[in-house]
Amino acid sequence: MSLVTMVNMRKEFGKTVALDDFSLTIPEGSLVSLLGPSGCGKTTALRILAGLLKPDKGRTMFDSVDVSATPASQRDIGMVFQAYSLFPNMSARSNVEFGLRTRKMAADQIKKKVDDIFEIIGLGEHQNKYPFQLSGGQQQRVALARAIVIRPKVLLLDEPLSALDAQVRNQLRDEIRRVQLEFGITTLFVTHDQEEAMTISDQVGVMHQGRLLQIDKPQIVYDLPANPIVARFVGAMNEIPVQIGGSKVTLFGETFDIAPRSQLSPSSNSHLALVRPEALTLSRGTSQGGRATVLRSSFLGATSLVHVKLDSGTQISVHLSAHAALEFPAGQTVSVQANGPQILVASQ
Ligand code: ATP
Repeated sequence: MSLVTMVNMRKEFGKTVALDDFSLTIPEGSLVSLLGPSGCGKTTALRILAGLLKPDKGRTMFDSVDVSATPASQRDIGMVFQAYSLFPNMSARSNVEFGLRTRKMAADQIKKKVDDIFEIIGLGEHQNKYPFQLSGGQQQRVALARAIVIRPKVLLLDEPLSALDAQVRNQLRDEIRRVQLEFGITTLFVTHDQEEAMTISDQVGVMHQGRLLQIDKPQIVYDLPANPIVARFVGAMNEIPVQIGGSKVTLFGETFDIAPRSQLSPSSNSHLALVRPEALTLSRGTSQGGRATVLRSSFLGATSLVHVKLDSGTQISVHLSAHAALEFPAGQTVSVQANGPQILVASQ
C-alpha cells in the first residue's frame, strides 16, 4: 500500500477536456471515491493512475516515487472493472492464482494465499467453477480476489457494482469495504452512485467537467458542500425561488444568513434556496411558515418523504420519520419551515 498522488493532471481528447488541472491525494490505506456525472472524467483519472492512459500534463506519484513513466504492468496495481473481466477459459481458482504464478511464487505459497482469499470472499465451494457457471456477484467477488491476492500497492475499482442488482450490489459493496480495511489497501473507487460512494469511502471527491470540485469526508461533502454543483449532485436537494437582500435571504417568511458557499451572480435577480429535505419541518395549518398542500408521501421504511406543493407552485419534499409523516395525508394544508441558521443560495 502507498500514498498516491496525482498532480496537476490535464487530458484532452480532441476538443474534449477530460481532466483539467486535476490533483488528487489518496492517503495510504484509505478508500477514496471519485463521484460525478457521466463524462466528468472519473475513468480518465483512474486510467491515468493505472498507467493505461498518458496525460498531456501532470505527474503520478506512489509514495515519493514518480511513476508517470512506469508502464501499467509494473505499477503494482489491482483492478476491478464494471464488466466481469475474468479469463473465461480458467476456473475461478485459476483466475485468482494467475497473478501469483506470473510472479513466480512457490506452489505451496500460492496454495495458502489462494485458500485464504477464497475463505475471505466466502466462495470456497465455487472455486472450481468456470466464470459462465458463476452469478454476476460471484464473478465480481472472484475479480476482487484476483486483484487483491497479489497485495497490490493500489486497488482501482471502476464501477465494479453497476452491473449487479440492488441486493447483491449492497452486499458486495460492504464486502469490498471489509476486505479493503482488512488488507489496508490504498483504493480508488470510481462511481456515479452517490449512495455507494458515501457508504464505503473515507473520502469522496466530487468531479464536474474534468475538475475536482471538493474532496472530503462523506459527511462534510453532504453537510457543507463546497458549492451548489456539489450540493445538487450529492443527496436530494429542494430548489426554492427566494428573494435576497444584502447577506440575507428570506425563506417562508423568515430571514436567514446566506451560507458562504453560495454562488450569487450580481447580474441575476433570480435566486434559488438549496435546502435538504431533512432541513425542513412541517406543521398542520397555516399559522407560520410557507403555505403548502400535501400531494403524497413516499414510504421509505423508518422514514418517509412528504411531497408538498407551495402556494407559489413549487413542489418540494420534506423528510420526516414515517410516524410523523402519518400526520400529513394528501390534501392536508400545512406550513413549511426551514432550519437555519444559514441557507445555501444559487443564482439562476
Ligand atoms: P462515465 O461515468 O460515463 O464512465 P466518466 O466520468 O468516467 O464517465 P470519462 O470516461 O473519463 O468520464 O470521459 C471524460 C470525457 O472524455 C468524456 O467527454 C468522454 O467522451 C471523453 N473521452 C474519454 N475517453 C475518450 C477517448 N478515448 N476518445 C475520445 N474521447 C474520450
